[in-house]
Amino acid sequence: MEYSGPTDLYIGGEWREANSGETITTEDPATESAYATVQKADATDVDAAVQAATEAADRDSEWRAMDPDVRREKIHAMADAIEELKDEITMVEAHDNGKTPFEAGMEIDMVIDTFRHYAGWTDKIQGSEIPVSDSRLNYTTRDPVGVTAHISPWNYPFQLAGRSVAPALATGNSVVLKPSSVTPLSALYYAKAAEEAGLPDGVVNVVPGSGSEAGSALASHEDVDHVTFTGSTGVGKAIQQDAAEAVADVTLELGGKGPAVVYPDADLDAAARGIQYGIFMNAGQMCWANSRVVVHEDVADELVEKMADIAENIPLGGGIDDDGQMGPVVSEGQQQEILDYIETGKEEGATVAAGGGVPEEKDTGHFVEPTVFADVDNDMTIAQEEIFGPVLSIIEVGDEAEALTVANDSPFGLTACVWTNDLSRAHTVADRLDYGMVMVNETPNTWPQTPFGGTKQSGHGRAQGEEAVESYTEVKNVHVNLE
Ligand code: NDP
Repeated sequence: MEYSGPTDLYIGGEWREANSGETITTEDPATESAYATVQKADATDVDAAVQAATEAADRDSEWRAMDPDVRREKIHAMADAIEELKDEITMVEAHDNGKTPFEAGMEIDMVIDTFRHYAGWTDKIQGSEIPVSDSRLNYTTRDPVGVTAHISPWNYPFQLAGRSVAPALATGNSVVLKPSSVTPLSALYYAKAAEEAGLPDGVVNVVPGSGSEAGSALASHEDVDHVTFTGSTGVGKAIQQDAAEAVADVTLELGGKGPAVVYPDADLDAAARGIQYGIFMNAGQMCWANSRVVVHEDVADELVEKMADIAENIPLGGGIDDDGQMGPVVSEGQQQEILDYIETGKEEGATVAAGGGVPEEKDTGHFVEPTVFADVDNDMTIAQEEIFGPVLSIIEVGDEAEALTVANDSPFGLTACVWTNDLSRAHTVADRLDYGMVMVNETPNTWPQTPFGGTKQSGHGRAQGEEAVESYTEVKNVHVNLE
């Protein structure tokens, strides 16, 4: 399917070519051929987008003054527009990123749910009254922060942009969205949806461009009030420094190296299926992947066998052309990085139980075999660093205390899974895991109403849930002397 979607930048309600005349050509990772060419924003385009967003978020603007029930209908209208475009966006995402249409469709569904969830928030953003001494009235309100910047990655291009754009809009802010230049296409559909929904000009602006130029210009722009960044830990640190220029608030959703802790009393078949999704969905390119399994020695061999069997039987495919359940990884560079990690794992003494290279039957496309390493020590590189590919490391432990020590021994703290049928153990372990999200007897999973985010090098702040409403609003305290 040829790309026939939007290709221009969207600034101030207009579709525009980039000032520099430069473009980005994206590749279909399954076919290795060019898929689409879009305009490439530079710092001057970003500045124009921020100016448009500043006007749209002005105190007297139509958007800021809009009644909450009218804003609610606008956000629902965006959800309707996305729903209408779902089949098209699904195929664009599958071609642009390499994921299967099933995986892409899940992204679009989650975005529709997220917009509908936050549409319901528009008339529930409340302050409180605070008792103070004598005859005084003291209360708080929650105001929009103003111009919000959103810098999103390539692994879930549509969903990870939408999960911050929706609450930012519902709370009355304007948005400048810079998607990854590796997968810039689906973000442009937010502009289409905003246009369709009749949002005032400048409320939504979309500027595909490189991270080093457009991204950095956006994060450091003095008129940006909040930056939401989803991406690698290294770039997240740079963004935090850039945003300090404008003393802008920052939400950082960064990398992970999540453990799945499996106890001997767990349902091992259910655990194996859960771990399968947690490491082989999206070809393992997931921040919250359970890329480490920490398993009790009594059931370790059995689990290794199950995981190897699963890995060897996952049909690979470019998704759009066949019945593949796992697509290629996003680029040749990403493929090479993953293969390098696999070599490191072998060199450091881990045992390849399944996969371990490029599939023989795939001579086109950036495919990597679903790979399972056994006999992994938690100090090994493959257990400490985020691989961001379909590579599972299985670490055997002797008792409950060791399981917790190993699970927490990571620079990251995004998601941990616990597999046990002992209720008391489940809650005790959940309490002691240093992670922002803990799943019990569940693969990594999330909903628009649940907070998403991590500790340590996985970032700070939370996407989704009530916490996102707090991120995109500023508390004002009003103090009235009644005497
Ligand atoms: P990157 O950090 O490379 O890029 C993320 C975004 O930042 C892209 O839009 C990129 O643009 C942009 N960018 C790059 N450099 C700069 C810069 N100096 N200033 C401003 N923006 C910049 O991450 P990836 O796209 O490679 O995504 C993978 C990473 O994201 C993984 O580490 C993963 O764990 C993490 N991630 C975290 C999630 C979470 O919720 N915690 C969810 C999903 C992914 P460009 O692509 O054009 O360079």
